[in-house]
Amino acid sequence: MMEVDNGRDDMSIDGQSLGNGVPGGFNASYLKLYYGKLFPYADIFKWLSYGNDGKHPACDKSYFGRREFSFTLDNDIYLRFQSVNNEFELENTIKEKCPFKIDIGPVYSVDPAKRHAYSQSGDNVFTPVERELIFDIDISDYDNVRYCCSGADVCLDCWPLMTVAIKVIDASLRDDFGFNHILWVFSGRRGVHCWVCDGKARRLTNEQRAAIADYFRVYKGNENSNKRVSLTGPVLHPFLVRSYTEVLKDFFETKLLSSQNLFSTEERYGKILEMIPDESVTSELQGKWQNNKRSSISKEDINLVRWEQLKHSLQSGQKKAQGLRRCVEEIVFSFTYPRIDMEVSKHMNHLLKAPFCIHPKTGRVCVPIDPKHCEEFDPTVVPTLSQLLEELNMGGVGADDDKECDRTSLGKSLSFFRSSFLRPLLKSCKEEMESLHNAKLQQSKNSLSW
Ligand SMILES: [Zn+2]
Repeated sequence: MMEVDNGRDDMSIDGQSLGNGVPGGFNASYLKLYYGKLFPYADIFKWLSYGNDGKHPACDKSYFGRREFSFTLDNDIYLRFQSVNNEFELENTIKEKCPFKIDIGPVYSVDPAKRHAYSQSGDNVFTPVERELIFDIDISDYDNVRYCCSGADVCLDCWPLMTVAIKVIDASLRDDFGFNHILWVFSGRRGVHCWVCDGKARRLTNEQRAAIADYFRVYKGNENSNKRVSLTGPVLHPFLVRSYTEVLKDFFETKLLSSQNLFSTEERYGKILEMIPDESVTSELQGKWQNNKRSSISKEDINLVRWEQLKHSLQSGQKKAQGLRRCVEEIVFSFTYPRIDMEVSKHMNHLLKAPFCIHPKTGRVCVPIDPKHCEEFDPTVVPTLSQLLEELNMGGVGADDDKECDRTSLGKSLSFFRSSFLRPLLKSCKEEMESLHNAKLQQSKNSLSW
């Protein structure tokens, strides 16, 4: 039976006000109920099996069991290189350990839990052989361009920076790299994770991963330089042009300028003027803005007015020099372009938190985000653990266990995960398996007939 009270008292005891002032409500007994009733074991197992759990002769039965799971327990005990062989073991292990955090690592050459036994035998080197291409984007890396929050805090004024990151990276992964099976997940607090699950992405080497990560590296965080983005060369790379014209420019001009008041004080516009390498331009603008603290046309947004003035100075008249024109774009890029944690993407053996985990500090579920509608995603209304348990309680007892999840606000996230990500992924895994198998059959036929 459920052991959670519906009462508000419960919330105020266990609920912490975190970041957005939303009660979190996270504790070990709530988590036990979540793992007992709601965590989608079958979906996670199906996903990470990539079709190898079926009956097809080409299935690799050892595949799922060679995947590393890592569990962070209540008392900060960190268990790495855990493995499970099937859905049943996955469920039992998680229920038994009740981890505060579940991380997913690579698929290794051998069962990671038995890596020491194998290391003596010589032949089977313990090494990662497959891993989703992953990206980790964290709002705290944007602290020099947001004034509403800092660190782990996030609000609806700065969250759109994450939306922009999703749009830019997702479009490029699909259009430039041809990946199709891409899962975006809310990290539970201050960022987003991306899992690229296509077969060709999972089989990328570390060198290839590093090359892809470098492709996305435009923003170079550097505390010692004001210019974090240098767009060099006579023409911009098509990916950068597209990101700029389709996402970044519009976002900067219609949202970020005013939501972050980028030109409202001398300190703030000073940071932007420092990015312009022409003293005559900067001193002219500075003079204009210093003597005009209150815009004469006060109904207009001072941020927009000053941005237009800056653009005019850089793009018109004698200032047409290529370098200065490019400066407008450099400013937009340095405020809006995605900041990726490069190390996470470069190495196959980097761990990443599993979707549908609960963030222990916010109590929020790490739900998938639909990249097609990512601007509608609101991190402040993502279901919390205590909210889900309350919803379960209200449903009463006796309901069909399998459908329990659908009665909670997690149901929508799960059905999105299944229909938009899991189903198409498994379909293409099956096709890939089939064609590989047929190619092998053909090969062995050819070698038999001469
Ligand atoms: Zn904020």
